[in-house]
Amino acid sequence: MPILAARMSQLGTESAFEVLARAQALQREGKSIINLGIGQPDFATPAHIVEAGRKALADGHHGYTPANGILPLREAVVADLHRRHGVTISPDRVLIVPGGKVTMFFAISMFGEPGTEILYPNPGFPIYESVIRYSGATPVPIRLHESNGFSFDAEEVLGLITPRTRLIILNSPANPTGGVVPKHELDRLVAGLARHPDVAIMSDEIYGEMVYEGTHVSLTTYPELEDRLILLDGWSKTYAMTGWRLGFGVWPAALFPYAERLAINSHSCVNAAAQFAGIAALTGPRAPVEQMMAAFAERRAYIVPALNALPGFRCATPGGAFYAFPNITGTGFDSRTLQTRLLNEAGVATVSGTSFGAFGDGNVRISYAASLDALREAVGRIGGWLERQRAHAPARTA
Ligand code: PLP
Repeated sequence: MPILAARMSQLGTESAFEVLARAQALQREGKSIINLGIGQPDFATPAHIVEAGRKALADGHHGYTPANGILPLREAVVADLHRRHGVTISPDRVLIVPGGKVTMFFAISMFGEPGTEILYPNPGFPIYESVIRYSGATPVPIRLHESNGFSFDAEEVLGLITPRTRLIILNSPANPTGGVVPKHELDRLVAGLARHPDVAIMSDEIYGEMVYEGTHVSLTTYPELEDRLILLDGWSKTYAMTGWRLGFGVWPAALFPYAERLAINSHSCVNAAAQFAGIAALTGPRAPVEQMMAAFAERRAYIVPALNALPGFRCATPGGAFYAFPNITGTGFDSRTLQTRLLNEAGVATVSGTSFGAFGDGNVRISYAASLDALREAVGRIGGWLERQRAHAPARTA
């Protein structure tokens, strides 16, 4: 057996992909599975975006592009950030990458090494903790609580900073909780960060256009963070483009050359046709995005009360993204057992909260990026399964 580098044992994974593989295997066996496990819109990429990608191929865009991405795409990104947040950013600070994840890998690689600490949300996107460990840094969880809608307390975050802290990862709206951090909490955090000028911040705003009440507040709107804020964003969720592998980072000017060098050392550049599709997404009609958001809002309005009506379930209302993260401790099952048994016995794929960090214990993630009919059927199946467990539970003796 070849001898691996020790850090390979530190890499974690994203269980949603394992659940997807298991769900597909069960489907191949002829079982009916409703997949509420994977976090991707159930819509096709809007037609005008697909057409732009097809046209780019037909027009001969088959070669390498600049490592940082084609200029018209970077210009479209900054115009879109201006439209959404009123901020003016130079396209020279935009690095186009193959998917949102890549910005996170680059940022963590840039700051993480043994002896350093990186703060990250827990429960949170599992790749943060995985890559922090891989980098050799110590992951320091920012614990998110159901009681405040899975936001955080700014003072609590600031209190976790030590002289070893190099990077703070934030994610709002959040996966897996749907939590949204309110502006007043961001204001307090940014004010407190003035006391820690050497700490970088990576703000994962990939669900930034998926907010149900009010508008998304981007950390790019705080000019005092400009020289240490990395913005992670991309097309996957907003434009139903998960398979195109297209994302971008906005980097502080001083960090940009390092990020670009990481790109040149890894993927060289992003698939040219996807970049043309990305321009069409940002500059084309907004109606398809609005229609998808309206569908998510309708599904949220159904799923949250429906989950709350299940015995043993308690579900906070998610402010953004397309995830519900119900607390299931009242069912008497632990999260992992419930995930496995709901998939195998009720035909509903969910993801255990423990896949998102230790503090996700007691919850499961339900992606409501599925049709209303599928959601109704899933809730019916879960409810029926829970009833059967209660009926078969041994009678309690006094
Ligand atoms: N950040 C968060 C919070 C996510 O939930 C995801 C995908 O699920 C990503 C980043 C990665 O997105 P992409 O598929 O564009 O790499």
